[in-house]
Amino acid sequence: LAKLLEVPNDHLLRKMANIGMDKLANNFLLTNEEAAEIALEYEVVPIIPENSGPELLPRPVPEDMSIHPMRPPVVTIMGHVDHGKTTLLDTLRNSKITASEAGGITQHIGAFSVKLNDKSHITFLDTPGHAAFSAMRARGANATDIVVLVVAADDGVMPQTKEAIQHALDADVPIIVAINKCDKPGVDPVRVQEELLKYGVQTEEMGGDIQSVKISALKGTGVDELSENIATLAEVLDLRAEVDIPAHATVIESQVEKGRGNVASLLVKRGTLRVGDVIVAGTAWCKVRSMTDDHGSAVKSATPATAVRVMGWKEIPQAGDMALQAESEGQAKDVVANRIEKRKNRDKLQAIDAMNEKRREVNERETSERAEEKAYRKAVWEYRNGLRASQPEPLPKKGSIYFDASEAAAKTEQIPVVPVVIKGDVSGTVEAVASALKQLPDKKIRVNVISTGVGPVTESDVAMAGSGSQGMVIAFNVKADKKTLNAAKREKVDVLTFRVIYKLLEDIEKVLTSRLEPLR
Ligand code: GDP
Repeated sequence: LAKLLEVPNDHLLRKMANIGMDKLANNFLLTNEEAAEIALEYEVVPIIPENSGPELLPRPVPEDMSIHPMRPPVVTIMGHVDHGKTTLLDTLRNSKITASEAGGITQHIGAFSVKLNDKSHITFLDTPGHAAFSAMRARGANATDIVVLVVAADDGVMPQTKEAIQHALDADVPIIVAINKCDKPGVDPVRVQEELLKYGVQTEEMGGDIQSVKISALKGTGVDELSENIATLAEVLDLRAEVDIPAHATVIESQVEKGRGNVASLLVKRGTLRVGDVIVAGTAWCKVRSMTDDHGSAVKSATPATAVRVMGWKEIPQAGDMALQAESEGQAKDVVANRIEKRKNRDKLQAIDAMNEKRREVNERETSERAEEKAYRKAVWEYRNGLRASQPEPLPKKGSIYFDASEAAAKTEQIPVVPVVIKGDVSGTVEAVASALKQLPDKKIRVNVISTGVGPVTESDVAMAGSGSQGMVIAFNVKADKKTLNAAKREKVDVLTFRVIYKLLEDIEKVLTSRLEPLR
């Protein structure tokens, strides 16, 4: 590691001691995290390999898709509030109910399928609005093939219309315009098309290639034409998917349902999902106990671009996560455990990063303070020796040496000060902790380090911290015996023990904040 970081061995060991590590020998094996923490000390940002450990990955997309069957398009309806998205979804859904033999009630499962003819279906995601679309996209789930942009003819292009256009353009998803509320008297659909032109949506009528349909979502007029246009565009897009591979799906909704447990709606993207399959989404896994379609009917399998409600999740998966099939429950568990571990590491690294950032800030501030002091002393010397006409401006007075005094000084009287005793296993550690304490935000409360030392926490440490107001003892890598702890309880002194430095600041901040109220 020293070689990689281009520093001498003993320097690295000293650094390790400073940050409170105890593996201080040349032949000790460091864990990934430890090595990362040390690297960050040298301002080298480590990259922990992402693909280590058991993982499930999507299959590579085959180069020649033409041999695979066509699949239905997946459509999202977007547009400004009150322009008729929900009404359109209801109309589409109802058009289907009357057509279906079951004639049953449709179930909200996050998506529904509309049958056009024997050959083609359209899948509509039924959460209108951009939030869902963006949230899915932010998680890398491009679940939509086509965006239907609803614009009310009596209102025209509005802020969320523009937003929707931007989302579709960003995601590179083709648009079909549905000019809605055309049943209203005196509306002018051409004006809407002209407005859309300004935002890069050039409809066929305006000489472009974007289809637009005049509809009344309320009355149902033009809705069939809209569906046909979607089907035509889908054919042009030549949407195909493999059917005979393990399922690749996107979580579109999830919740806990009474009597059913954890339930999630999945939109199958590739392959086939079957009852009995084992799937993993993020850090949740599931042995598919049962599946239902958008009619609430039980189904045994689901093919690409169909949505199903899946029962049997051990945990609730998150919307937008990709669900992939595992070979066995054992593999699913391993993958989940590995992902949880990796996420923890990432969180830790972020915490370390943030702390290093703070340290750098403090170092910079101290360096500039030292430079100011030096300049001041020089000016004083020059003045005294007649090399300077005027007396230099005195530097602002500092309060506690552990804090940025400028802000605190004015309020010193009101700010509660917590006396702190620091004990540690090696003096380097104690210094590191004391210096780390400097980084605490000192807006409402201050700590004053009244004593530091090496060795276990003793009763006299407690007494020192307890004299005056309620203090605390910070013990780094050292213990306190029972007698000392009892004394601490009596004196209402907190004894906080730590083994790792990155948790220290956060925890101390928490304790201090929790003390603010009683102290006031
Ligand atoms: P959303 O916010 O985009 O989901 O809009 P809604 O579907 O809730 O519709 C907003 C209002 O417009 C409701 O009062 C609807 O009844 C009405 N509305 C929707 N579509 C039409 C339409 O085609 N014609 C007329 N006249 N009113 C409509």
